[in-house]
Amino acid sequence: MKAFEYINARDLKAASQALGSDPGKAKILAGGMDLLTELKEHLIEPERIVNIKGIKGLDVYQVGPRGARLGALITLSRIEADKRLWDQHAALAEAARAVGSPQIRNVGTLGGNLCQRPRCWYYRDEQIRCIKKGGSKCFAADEQANNKYNAILGAGPSWIVHPSDCATALVALGAKIRYFDAQGKTREVLAEEFFVLPKVRVNAENILQPNEILTEVILPAPRRGTRSTYLKFRERESFDWALSAVAVSAQVTDDGTIQEIRVVLGGVAPAPWRSLEAEKVLQGQKYSPQRASQAAEAALEQAAPLSQNAYKVPLTKVLIRRAVEKVVTGKATPV
Ligand SMILES: Cc1cc2nc3c(=O)[nH]c(=O)nc-3n(C[C@H](O)[C@H](O)[C@H](O)COP(=O)(O)OP(=O)(O)OC[C@H]3O[C@@H](n4cnc5c(N)ncnc54)[C@H](O)[C@@H]3O)c2cc1C
Repeated sequence: MKAFEYINARDLKAASQALGSDPGKAKILAGGMDLLTELKEHLIEPERIVNIKGIKGLDVYQVGPRGARLGALITLSRIEADKRLWDQHAALAEAARAVGSPQIRNVGTLGGNLCQRPRCWYYRDEQIRCIKKGGSKCFAADEQANNKYNAILGAGPSWIVHPSDCATALVALGAKIRYFDAQGKTREVLAEEFFVLPKVRVNAENILQPNEILTEVILPAPRRGTRSTYLKFRERESFDWALSAVAVSAQVTDDGTIQEIRVVLGGVAPAPWRSLEAEKVLQGQKYSPQRASQAAEAALEQAAPLSQNAYKVPLTKVLIRRAVEKVVTGKATPV
């Protein structure tokens, strides 16, 4: 590992100044579960590491009937352990529990989970200078490539999938993300605007500039009759990223009509993928297995699989059907 300067930032302003505006020169350290791997594997070689764990306010934690405020430094195990989050924002609690192993969740933070870098084999190979590391092409898109884990929706010029379980859940829950910007102001955006596709920004997965810091996540109070879920399918039962995942949040009236619904896919696109097509099929309708199937078909209509990942199409359809059924009827077919 290349030697670096280590800074314990005392507040957001000092952290932002220490980070500077030059991409690659300095990096934020939270729990370190992803950052240390990137350093040890020589994927990044910053001159400076800025530890944000001592910054007051980044550990804010409020959960109540009017919604929730979760600071960037809140660990995933704390989210997973809070019964109130399971009752009000189940998709996030389920997503947090689906991350890695208990050890990773004890150390890994919400901010780090949302800002972690992709797991694509080509990105993670220090010998390969792919398009996300300043190169000119995405090797995953080649016919002979190992692309079984890559994207089938919204891809190009990079085919990574967004690695964060919590990101998918937060978009379904209509969450907002607050961050400290380069001018020292606190800004707030919808989670779905925070994450960006490679056609917008190829070398980052969100809108943050090098000297900007994610500070907290805001969850709106769920409306009456709203339920949510996060279903994840992975290759190994223990610590593994999603091959495909679906987060659904729906408000259902007393007579069973789906009033509002959000269907968001994970593990299949370079950013959490909100399927307006699936939502359109379900909105204003009563649940039936046929309608859920139609929604699943609509969600995957634009899928463009690579040579080894066509399996993600039927897999994701099954997850959509099960997630919609679970949220609307309360019944859960095991994944
Ligand atoms: C074996 C293993 C399995 C894993 N499995 C999963 C999984 O199944 N699902 C999943 O979602 N993740 C998984 N992860 C990824 C990830 O490490 C964890 O999700 C964890 O939450 C990361 O949090 P951290 O605090 O350790 O982040 P760090 O490693 O400290 O940071 C991660 C990245 O985010 C940046 N960052 C951190 N905090 C902020 C902030 N507040 N503002 C701006 N940038 C910030 C850092 O600079 C770094 O680039 C896994 C990791 C490992 C090692």
